[in-house]
Amino acid sequence: MPFDHHGTTSNGNNPANETSTPVAEAQVIARLRGLITGEVIAPEDAGYDAARAVFYGGHDRHPAVVVRPVNADEVAAVVRLARETSLELAVRSGGHSGAGHSVSEGGIVLDLAAMRALDIDVENRTAWAEAGLTAGEYTTAAASHGLATGFGDTGSVGIGGITLGGGVGYLVRKYGLTIDDLLAADVVTANGEIVRVDAESHPDLFWALRGGGGNFGVVTRFKFRLHPVDMVVGGMLVLPATVDVISGVAAAAHAAPEELSTIANVMIAPPMPFLPAELHGKLIVMLMLVYVGDVEAGQQAVAPFRALAAPLADMVRPMHYTEMYPPEEGGYHPTAVSWSMFVNTINRDTAQVILDHLHTSSAQMAVAQIRVLGGAMARVPVEATAFAHRQEPIMVNVAALYQNPAEEAQHKAWVREFAAALNQGSTGVYVNFLGNEGKDRVHDAYPGATWDRLAAVKHRYDPDNLFHLNHNVASAAVES
Ligand code: FAD
Repeated sequence: MPFDHHGTTSNGNNPANETSTPVAEAQVIARLRGLITGEVIAPEDAGYDAARAVFYGGHDRHPAVVVRPVNADEVAAVVRLARETSLELAVRSGGHSGAGHSVSEGGIVLDLAAMRALDIDVENRTAWAEAGLTAGEYTTAAASHGLATGFGDTGSVGIGGITLGGGVGYLVRKYGLTIDDLLAADVVTANGEIVRVDAESHPDLFWALRGGGGNFGVVTRFKFRLHPVDMVVGGMLVLPATVDVISGVAAAAHAAPEELSTIANVMIAPPMPFLPAELHGKLIVMLMLVYVGDVEAGQQAVAPFRALAAPLADMVRPMHYTEMYPPEEGGYHPTAVSWSMFVNTINRDTAQVILDHLHTSSAQMAVAQIRVLGGAMARVPVEATAFAHRQEPIMVNVAALYQNPAEEAQHKAWVREFAAALNQGSTGVYVNFLGNEGKDRVHDAYPGATWDRLAAVKHRYDPDNLFHLNHNVASAAVES
């Protein structure tokens, strides 16, 4: 579900380039064509508009060039050239950044789409995955061995962005965040070096990569742990949106065994074919769930949700895990404003707040998404990785999707007011659900000691802030 902010233009703040000599774009393009064998797509090329497009609408930027290197050496050559020239570098895996970070105005887009190799070691249950793969592609390939690594709820999201921010998905309570299965990474640093990063080699960088986003270098390959995941009890359960159902879903998700992870979308029913026409436009709870384990036990774990109200649609059944990632429509580029937050409880009062606000939205689609967390994710010590919110019990994302850019202010005001009404005191936010919401919100994603440690690693690996088109952890050197 797309619930991120769309943002402003790329920030144009590239301290790395302040001291470098501007180079004519044509010259840069010619040099790139000499340096790499992968695609180099310039504005006059036929594929340029498709190559500059990203998932979210509202980021209509025109980079000087989009490059698709085919291996780590070529990535390193692009990084070195970006450093040498005055062109801003955007790094792209799946292009789903809500803040529009994977396309830059007038800069170089380093698109990893040509790097999609996946090498699965079935015996040791690990996989080396190139960063251009999507979560869906990885999941499908791993499933042919009855194995999986947890990503998010959408197959087209790139493994690059979701992993570096943390990764909260259908296996989160059973196996933790995506980063909890990250064993190593190959990284091209700001000076163009290729380094193998793991618990022994560059441990500070390994810590920072697990939640700190794209601040520290370009990851060309990830090594993940795989788990035995084949048949699951999963799918969609649609319930009427009432105070009792919304609070009941949250309570049942808390009480459920940790084999069960849920994502509940309280929303106006879109005209989906499996819903009777009289429900279209009415408020529903669209619950996505996955139970990893024995099918019989899974059916029992789902029973409390089914008992909350007569389901409007019940598509929960034993299925292959890959079926949770159905094919997606190409060409879908929604514009959205959203706010992500953590709360302690969704009780009846909170549920009433949710219903009251969703009723008043004028957006094409308005939603409150509830993810009850806990389980394996919460057992990893907070300081073990750069994801600082492991003890938060529930993540809520509120979002409005719309088409007319002139409506932005009204939807933004609605989202902010809704989020304020839901606020239960936590200021934390998951970085992968942040839009362009200002420096304070980036600090909220990386509070206290997490920020200090990230800033120190940034200072060590990218003191000039070459990698700044991200939720930026500027190093002390750049900030002063
Ligand atoms: P990109 O736009 O390609 O990358 C985003 C940023 O990550 C880049 O700007 C760059 O800074 C960095 N980056 C990406 N690849 C690399 C790399 N190889 N090396 C260095 N830096 C890199 N998140 C969840 O956790 N769970 C979900 O269920 C979930 N669902 C989503 C559903 C939708 C429809 C969308 C749009 C997003 C969802 N997200 C979810 C958020 C998602 O994790 C982030 O938007 C993530 O950044 C997208 O990764 P990407 O590679 O597709 O994006």
